[in-house]
Order: sequence, then structure tokens, then C-alpha cells
Amino acid sequence: MRIWVNGGLRDADDARLSVLDHGLTVGDGIFETVRTSEGRPFALTRHLDRLTRSARGLGLPDPDHDEVRHAVAAVIDANPVALGRLRITYTGGLSPLGSDRGDHGTSLVVALDGVSRRPDTTAVITVPWTRNERGALAGLKTTSYAENVVALARARERGASEALFPNTADRLCEGTGSNVFVVLGGRIHTPPVASGCLAGITRALAVEWTGAEETDLPMDVLAEADEVFLTSTLRDVQAVHRVDDRELTPEIGPVTAKAMRIFAERAGDDLDP
Ligand code: PLP
Repeated sequence: MRIWVNGGLRDADDARLSVLDHGLTVGDGIFETVRTSEGRPFALTRHLDRLTRSARGLGLPDPDHDEVRHAVAAVIDANPVALGRLRITYTGGLSPLGSDRGDHGTSLVVALDGVSRRPDTTAVITVPWTRNERGALAGLKTTSYAENVVALARARERGASEALFPNTADRLCEGTGSNVFVVLGGRIHTPPVASGCLAGITRALAVEWTGAEETDLPMDVLAEADEVFLTSTLRDVQAVHRVDDRELTPEIGPVTAKAMRIFAERAGDDLDP
């Protein structure tokens, strides 16, 4: 694997950042995960725009889109894969051993690995921990993902592949790496960005393409929803067949199946520029 690190491609064994990089010492960084199909990045412009929004939210200098596009093209060229997970990481750079960001620029890392298609259905759990919709990091895609790692480990212990968070007002928010949709009486609903969820790129497309409504939802909507599905860059639309102990039948409900068909038809396009 060839990885872009601060200005050039390196072999994975030789791809190094300083141990004093602020992204490592305090999680002062942001990232994007972009799907590539046959070497084409999907919706790259939307990802770069969100990278910039996250940078501004964290007080990092704006990433240079031309530089990132150049790095993305170089990494895709150097790592031919059919279906790929491209990760762009951008951090506060080299810094002293404290929380203050140093005056040492930023770090940019771009890596790509091959992935297989996600299953069409999955089980999820709900977790008691909350997303803080009023926190400084609400809605930013930062590298401070340890809370998601803990929640995902809990999901795996319970035979599920995703964990859903409430926010501090006990309203439905999002998964560790996905947005959540519920179907009630034939209508599709998803929590608004004000719930504290990430403004998912797949979520926005699902709202646009399926007419889903943004609705403030209680957590117990999951006990009564006719259908539940997740969206994310690597899932597109993934049906949920179990929430905690509740089995949903059929495994892929009709409204979810239609959303999946819409994505299968439209998400093959580059959606760029
Ligand atoms: N929510 C969180 C916390 C995420 O990390 C992600 C993606 O990784 C999403 C939602 C889905 O966003 P997208 O559709 O842009 O991949």
C-alpha cells in the first residue's frame, strides 16, 4: 500500500508522522472517508467541502483542496482496487506536548484500501451513552472517535454491527459511523442535524432522492418503526433487521428496498464536480 504523507507518496512501512503530531497526542484532527469505485472517488467535492467545514469548526487552517485532490489522485493511481475506502486525514500538525496547537502547520495523510461490499442487512443496538448536540465538536468529523470505538465494540459483543446513540435530550441521533432513518406509516424520517448527528453525505442524498423528512424523534421510535435503515459512504442504504431484541420483518421492508434501488441506480455516478 502506498500512502500520501505530507507532500509525497510513501510505502506503508515508511509512512511516518511525528509522535508529537497533534492528531495523535490530543486527537486534534479531522477526516473524510470517501468511496472509490474502479478508481473514481464518489462525491469528492462534497467530502472536501465537509472537510473544510470540519477544519473551520476545529480552528484548523482551511485545507488546500487542490493539494488534497492531487494527493487523492496519486493515491488512487498507486493503489488499484475495485471498491475502495479512501481516507483523508488532516491534523493540527507537530506540536509540543500540550493541548495548545503549535505553530507547525498541519499534516495531511491520504490512504486507500480495498473493501468488499457491505451486507444488505444488519443488526444494531442502542447504547446509553449520548452524543452532545451542544458540544464544541457536534457535527464535526474529527479524529476523536474513541467513543465510537467503545460503542462499536459493545455492538460486536451483542452480534450487531452498529450502535445507535441518543443525544443528551434522549432523542434519536446517529450511529458510530452512519445516519439512521425510520419508516412510519410509509413515510421516511431521519433526525435533523440539530440532533447532533453528522451531516452525512449519504444522508443528504437519501433526503434528496427519497423525500425523507428531517424529524426530531424519540429513542422509542425504534420500538415502533415499520422499517429502519442506515446510510453511510460504505453502506449506501443498509436495512436494519434487528434493533436490540426487536426483529423487524421482512428483513428488508418495501420502503427500504425502494431506497436501496434508488441508490443502486444513482450512486454509481461520480456526482462530481
Ligand atoms: N455519522 C458518523 C458519526 C459517521 O462517522 C459517518 C461516516 O463515517 C456518518 C454518520 C455517515 O456519513 P457519510 O454518509 O458522509 O459517510
